[in-house]
Amino acid sequence: MPNRSFSNKPVLLIVEDQVSDLKLLSAAVQDLAEVFFAKAGREALDIARQCRPDVVLLDIEMPGLSGFEVCRMLKADPELLHAAVIFVSAHTKTSNELLALECGGVDFIKKPLNVPVTRARIKAHIALRNEAKRLANHDALTGLPNRILLQDRTEQALKKARRSNGRVAMLLLDLDNFKVINDSMGHSIGDLVLQEVASRLSHSLPLQGTVSRQGGDEFIFLLPDVLGFDAIGDFAGRVLATISTPFFIQGNRYNIFASIGISIFPEDSGDIESLYRCADAAMYQAKVLGRNRYYFFSDSIETSMRARHLLDHGMRSALEDGVFNVYYQAKVDAKNNKVVGLEALVRWCNNDGVFISPSEFIPLAEETGLIVSIGRYVLLQACKDAKMLHDLGYEIPVSVNISVVQFRDEHFLGMVESALKETRLEGRFLEMEITEGVLARDIDNAREKLMNLKFLGVGVSIDDFGTGYSSLAYLKRFPIDVLKIDKSFVRDMLVDKCDSAIIDAIIKLAEALELKLVAEGVETKEQSDALLKKGCQVMQGYLYCHPIPITQMCSFLASRVEFDAVSIENLP
Ligand code: C2E
Ligand code: CA
Ligand code: CA
Repeated sequence: MPNRSFSNKPVLLIVEDQVSDLKLLSAAVQDLAEVFFAKAGREALDIARQCRPDVVLLDIEMPGLSGFEVCRMLKADPELLHAAVIFVSAHTKTSNELLALECGGVDFIKKPLNVPVTRARIKAHIALRNEAKRLANHDALTGLPNRILLQDRTEQALKKARRSNGRVAMLLLDLDNFKVINDSMGHSIGDLVLQEVASRLSHSLPLQGTVSRQGGDEFIFLLPDVLGFDAIGDFAGRVLATISTPFFIQGNRYNIFASIGISIFPEDSGDIESLYRCADAAMYQAKVLGRNRYYFFSDSIETSMRARHLLDHGMRSALEDGVFNVYYQAKVDAKNNKVVGLEALVRWCNNDGVFISPSEFIPLAEETGLIVSIGRYVLLQACKDAKMLHDLGYEIPVSVNISVVQFRDEHFLGMVESALKETRLEGRFLEMEITEGVLARDIDNAREKLMNLKFLGVGVSIDDFGTGYSSLAYLKRFPIDVLKIDKSFVRDMLVDKCDSAIIDAIIKLAEALELKLVAEGVETKEQSDALLKKGCQVMQGYLYCHPIPITQMCSFLASRVEFDAVSIENLP
């Protein structure tokens, strides 16, 4: 039986040994509450401990314990003493009624039952009990849950998280400059501010969470079932933004900020008290660091979250300032000594002049959705450069990496179309490199998008082939032109038989399905020779060309009158 202390529906327990009365009573109250039954005192106490009734209808004469004894025992149990006990009895003597009230009953209903009147009286008691509960569990000023209700919810959340190895976050929020407002504008304005804060906080609450007012200007969010720390940090960031939006109260504008301390079960602590202490210490740290910010109690979480935050911030500024660069790496037909294509690879040097690898920032950009803008920038630049090369007489296609997130974006096709139009590049000089994962989900939608790309003349390569989704069925169903053999297989092909066998299999597959092949990460002449022997002609890797800026690529192409293995060292 679930714990029902704060379920919305009132809980009613009928304790009655006479079947006919039991039936009458249950018919009368069925739709008013969730109803439980017991036929004797001991059983009633057991059930009450589990269902925590709001109202108990209690017969006096029963086998075993009498109704009076049951009532006294209920009132002696701290978990059950709030239940409203209504005696239902044929013992109509005044002394009985007095005794019932003395031992904690709130009402006395006489048998034989007058059903409509009985129902009305029970209904009134349920309403009273609901109101008492609401007052006991909610803050009078803001209407938010108070610390008692939060305590109960936290206990439930921790219990559940322990069972399911889940995670619970506690965020303690304290307003930064509330005292100034209270002191200068008076408490009535202070109260209005707190009410508005409470309303904003409850609107930012996820479905599963609780926000409570602890007292003063201190609030607590409880987030059960949270997954990653990132999500918690993002949530705290949103809450801060909500609070820092100016308040307009009685015609005046107020700027209010808050600091948030975050503690997490099980990383920081295993019980409510110390979770609270950790959140409080973290909140204090947030204040020390300059307020209007959030801070994780755990040093390691805080450090990694800060790094993530900085990276995200850096990427956004880089995009605004146009400091992302696009480099190109040649794809070479090793048999005919010809450059047959280029791959566009994004490059980012941050403000400190440090080169940041795309493998580091692309995953975060995918998570935050920024990849859509970064991808648009790269695509447009690649189309411009491809057109410029075309005008110089190099008729080679440029391929662009497309992340899953970007591919699924509803404006993806429109964006490709307008990039081609804007740069006046023919579709056949553009190629999209997508990974197997792009095709794994939502197959129909992906197929339609690829067909549309085909319609524009744009080619499609499967990148990192062999490392992703294992079903090969999609190869047949999607309009694909090229398989790119992942560099991990090429790296070890000369020393690892399995990798060599995988490359053989990929080459056979490409032949059978009439797909072109590109081997990635070719670094040595031996690898190149072995690949040629196996039947893969087009290669990409440091042996031929590092990723280089477009100006260098122009010189590289111009110098390649005849193929000569070129390796440009010390380039990113
Ligand atoms: P990828 O698409 O597999 O790109 C090939 C990566 O291998 C590039 O790393 C390239 O510099 C590197 N590489 C080339 N030749 C060799 C070689 O001989 N040996 C070794 N060990 N590596 C070689 P990079 O530029 O660091 O990019 C890493 C990944 O980041 C890319 O893997 C791609 O998945 C992603 N990426 C890069 N640019 C973009 C972009 O504009 N958009 C998106 N969505 N992803 C990008
Ligand atoms: Ca690629
Ligand atoms: Ca690749």
